[in-house]
Amino acid sequence: MLCPRRRCDGKAIIDKVYGVLPCEECQKKDSFTPKLKTRPESYSLAKSHRVQRARDRHAKDIVQPYMSGKPNPDYFKIHPDQIKKYGVKKELKKA
Ligand SMILES: [Zn+2]
Repeated sequence: MLCPRRRCDGKAIIDKVYGVLPCEECQKKDSFTPKLKTRPESYSLAKSHRVQRARDRHAKDIVQPYMSGKPNPDYFKIHPDQIKKYGVKKELKKA
């Protein structure tokens, strides 16, 4: 199929969602094609989600077992297996 643009004999692009789209050359010139408008947006959205998830994971990693000399309840909530190792069961109950 040929490009739907006038005086253009490029090859039309058939999109599952948007149907017949102008050829690549016309799309480069024309920023109003839905394809060019939506693709980068959804890409960066997916990317920021991934970054957010990585940040959450990192936040857990930097929780320290001790904070200003006292056992950190947040740390032992995440790592209950460490309570015995640090021997802080009594201290955590006090906190
Ligand atoms: Zn064209």
